[in-house]
Amino acid sequence: EWFISYPINNYNVTLCIGDYIHFSDTFLSNTDTLDLDYYVLSYNEEVAKNHFKQVKPMLKCFEYYFDQYPFINDGYALIETPYLGMEHQSAIAYGNNFLPGYKGNKSFIDGLDFDFIILHETGHEWWGNSITTNDIADMWVHEGFCTYSEVLYVECHYGYEEMLSYVNNQKNKVRNNKPIIGTFNVNNKGSSDMYFKGSLMLHTLRNYINDDVLWFRMLKDMTNYFKLQVVDGKDIISYINNYTNRDFTVFFEQYLNNKDLPQLQYKLQKNGKNYTIIYRWEAIDEFKMPVLINIGYLDILIYPSNEWKELDIGSFDKNKFKIRDDLFFIDVKKM
Ligand SMILES: [Zn+2]
Repeated sequence: EWFISYPINNYNVTLCIGDYIHFSDTFLSNTDTLDLDYYVLSYNEEVAKNHFKQVKPMLKCFEYYFDQYPFINDGYALIETPYLGMEHQSAIAYGNNFLPGYKGNKSFIDGLDFDFIILHETGHEWWGNSITTNDIADMWVHEGFCTYSEVLYVECHYGYEEMLSYVNNQKNKVRNNKPIIGTFNVNNKGSSDMYFKGSLMLHTLRNYINDDVLWFRMLKDMTNYFKLQVVDGKDIISYINNYTNRDFTVFFEQYLNNKDLPQLQYKLQKNGKNYTIIYRWEAIDEFKMPVLINIGYLDILIYPSNEWKELDIGSFDKNKFKIRDDLFFIDVKKM
């Protein structure tokens, strides 16, 4: 029953002992049938049967973005545990007490109603379990993509506007205390920013690429390309560079190897009726990500570099001016 027919990480092997009852369901995955097996303590059977109904829409959304569940022949399972959760491959540890959010805290998930642990640990079946990094210094590939998979689920299940709100809610948990990438070859993880800042970095990259068709096609192709493999973070970055035929090396360097966010510095100067925006990046050398600004009725793309630049942006109500930092995770400083 617990035979594993795919490669597995040692940390994904576990043993659970308890007074379990078992119930099962099936999920149609393309033309295959995926077995869903649930093991909960006997007195939780009723609540679990209702609570675990949310698994299918989660799997459906993840298959939409990342293609088929990677361990189709081994099945999908949730097993009740005394601890919060862990992405054990095709046997996810579940200890969120059958509550929404994070142990019932819904502000953690921007006021939505799904079970955070089921969603997050399920995302790891693609990002972490199927695609695993060689070194935990690169753990952003597991946690960044997995935390971003939550964002995509929210977009899939609740819509784009809710997704924007959800991903911006993740900013509360970013610390900018040290780089996301740790030290290689000495079993050293980087900052816990690998989770939420990692996710916000990917959200920013989507808007930097500015082509959703390409973005979603790339995500799915990349998940398949690296399926059931061990990779380095730099393989992921090269894949994205090659796929888009653009160079995001400096972008990743800024977000992964530096603790600080790139800071957009700007001032608005009035010349008659019109405004001129003067702007630059305070960031690592060669950081040149374009950013959207909004003048109330229109988004305008500006192309800052480390040098000050100027752009005439016409006449508008100054109170309605904003930098679209809901699309780009950056620090903003009005000079
Ligand atoms: Zn995780």
